[in-house]
Amino acid sequence: MIKKVLVFIMDGLGDRPIKEFNNKTPLEYAKTPNFDKLCSESQCGLMYTLGRGKRPGSDTAHLSIFGYPTDEYYTGRGPIEAAGVGIKLEGGDVAFRGNFGTVDDNWNVIDRRAGRIKDVSVFAQALDGIEIDGIKFIIKPGSAYRAGVVMRGKGLSSNVSNADTHNEGDSVQEVVATDNSAEAKFTASVLNKFMKKSYEILNNLEENKIREQKNELKANFLLLRGAGIYPKLPKFTEKWSFENACCIAGGGLYKGVGAFLGMDLINVPGANAQVDTNIEGKFKAAIEATKKYDFVFLHIKPTDSLAEDGNYIGKRDFIEKMDKYVSILNEVDDETLIVITADHSTACELKAHSADPVPILFHAKGIRNDNLAKFGERECSKGSLGVIEGKDVMPNVLNIMGKLPLIGA
Ligand code: ZN
Repeated sequence: MIKKVLVFIMDGLGDRPIKEFNNKTPLEYAKTPNFDKLCSESQCGLMYTLGRGKRPGSDTAHLSIFGYPTDEYYTGRGPIEAAGVGIKLEGGDVAFRGNFGTVDDNWNVIDRRAGRIKDVSVFAQALDGIEIDGIKFIIKPGSAYRAGVVMRGKGLSSNVSNADTHNEGDSVQEVVATDNSAEAKFTASVLNKFMKKSYEILNNLEENKIREQKNELKANFLLLRGAGIYPKLPKFTEKWSFENACCIAGGGLYKGVGAFLGMDLINVPGANAQVDTNIEGKFKAAIEATKKYDFVFLHIKPTDSLAEDGNYIGKRDFIEKMDKYVSILNEVDDETLIVITADHSTACELKAHSADPVPILFHAKGIRNDNLAKFGERECSKGSLGVIEGKDVMPNVLNIMGKLPLIGA
């Protein structure tokens, strides 16, 4: 009887044939004896995370896999990032992604990341709790120059423009309402006041004077983008009837997805979402977690970042590196289902996410396995699951666990 689930998502794992790899994808070309063994014992298929012809973002793809349709629950990246830095969101909050950057006296952006500042705790603290026109700003530091930002109060809207143009040299834009509602206009007006006030506070902060003396760029502006309103959403464990769920991820966005859905976050030393991330530590933590949690979400990032750089050799090498440790995951007990897949393809050729489907496998004791020879895009297309969508994953998980409700008599 399957009682627990470990979902392992390798970001951007899927890819397209590479000429230099004899027209195999990095996953197909990589030597992966351990993934292949798991695959031969699994039920396999291909998955269009958001559906055919839809090019997934990482956030929307994950929400889909976990059973939260994008059109219902996705209002922007802001709420997910804010959840990831530990802000407990409430219905009606409007959240943003924030960067501490450097502007000149005319608010021209000199550096969007304040010289890639490593820790913005002091700066976030200086702004946390500011109130303007009855709206409270909650600001928590994220990794490096990033921050999660939440506006809390009555009558807010996320239909406002970005102040951050993404281009250095441009000046910070005045925020405007992107619809005609009173809420959007009010939110824009509060944000413009906040920018003025926060610039004054940050620009005069002792910490920035010290940075200036050291010839470092001041972190004197909080650039905001990705506004989203926090929707009322059911907790993952309640939606799918699990006792408890946890998330093991290095990247802020993925921790955010976990926290957004109410999962506990487990931090692993050295899990940094970079190529030298602590794969072994994360796999071991995942196995440990299956002893306490009945749902474990494990995420690995670099397969995506390497493909976004067009680095197909690096992607192949990283897949082979993961393969060395994958047998750790196979140490789960007989009550645990392992699902291995990707959130989307990232094509080295395009250096971008693509809508090509990704391989997916379901590995559990007693599963009707397909005996496939290799974990790869085209081999998995021969699997008995056929072609599924992200929204099919959780129902399939429940089926394997014997928890699906009966339709009819
Ligand atoms: Zn992704």
